[in-house]
Amino acid sequence: MRNQQTLASTVTCSGVGLHSGQPTSITLRPAPPDTGVVFVNCNSDVGACLSVSIEHRVPTELCTAIMGNGFQVQTIEHLLAALSGMGIDNAFVDVTATEVPVMDGSAAPFVRLIQSAGVVAQDQKQPFLKIMAPIEIIEGSKRVRIEPSSTPRITYSIHYPHPLIKTQTYAYDCSASAFEHEIAEARTFGFLQEVQALWARGLGKGGTLDNTVVLSGDGVINQSGLRFDDEFVRHKILDLIGDISLLGMPFIGHIVADRSGHALHTRLVQQILTQPDKWVLLNADSPAVATHTATYGTRHQPAVAPKAS
Ligand SMILES: [Zn+2]
Repeated sequence: MRNQQTLASTVTCSGVGLHSGQPTSITLRPAPPDTGVVFVNCNSDVGACLSVSIEHRVPTELCTAIMGNGFQVQTIEHLLAALSGMGIDNAFVDVTATEVPVMDGSAAPFVRLIQSAGVVAQDQKQPFLKIMAPIEIIEGSKRVRIEPSSTPRITYSIHYPHPLIKTQTYAYDCSASAFEHEIAEARTFGFLQEVQALWARGLGKGGTLDNTVVLSGDGVINQSGLRFDDEFVRHKILDLIGDISLLGMPFIGHIVADRSGHALHTRLVQQILTQPDKWVLLNADSPAVATHTATYGTRHQPAVAPKAS
């Protein structure tokens, strides 16, 4: 058990949106205890805010997006994974467009950004959601399940009839160090035909071989090759860590996923929050925080936030 954590200073990065292809930048700023992660619309005079919580999630096919208070931000999952993976509980994220920059298609640039800002402990305890009974979502051959465990863990399996993938399974013990070294570097991937179909539909406009691993019939098109032999399943874990952060706090349990994806991940979050008999909150400072969190999956939802100076 630990106290809440935020950034020690303010940091910025810029790039393009994976789907819009438009320039965009984010500024990560320290936030007070019990804020959670809150996006701030830089194009709003009042600094309109959108907290990262399951109730703001909008169904999208290709990425994770949230909407509310007059704006929408998409492709947030890799940034959320980096914040969650590195133990950042509270942060403001000023965003200049409707999408988070894709950077190199992994979470590594965001990890380096967080490390350059520094991480500081705050004076409030960080609640943890500890799973006491299994919760499972099954949809055809896809499934995701969370079950009791003394530590946070994720085991993910994927299956593709491709010589570089076939079946890949990865068991991940959650920690900032393991996130940085095992998960953060794994990039987004797609199959050549799918990627071409997306481009034909005017989607994925920011996608290039610099931010997406593209699989051909028997290999990858990227000349630089893979960062790990099992980079694909590691990236699925990265996505899951980002999606599960919509819970609004860290979990203690074992997530087992097989052929899962953004939609199933977020349904798991919804199922967890609607079944409070299956978990307990540990390390909560006050019963009010626990009750609000249990009901809304987030602790504190300002409509506006102080803008960056
Ligand atoms: Zn991803």
